[in-house]
Amino acid sequence: MAVPRSRSSNSKKNSRSANSALKAKGLSTCSNCNKTKMPHTVCPFCGFYAKKSVIAIKSETEK
Ligand SMILES: [Zn+2]
Repeated sequence: MAVPRSRSSNSKKNSRSANSALKAKGLSTCSNCNKTKMPHTVCPFCGFYAKKSVIAIKSETEK
């Protein structure tokens, strides 16, 4: 089996993995309730899409 001539140092390993962190992206805010939601989706909190009420969301008190 092939053996690497020199193994990579801890600092080389760590600097390589410095760019691999997961970042939160692709979030947009609702135009009605200003909560963060997935872009191009109906707001799960108030049921608004493109400043119009699309679906009725049952609140905790209505049940
Ligand atoms: Zn909303």
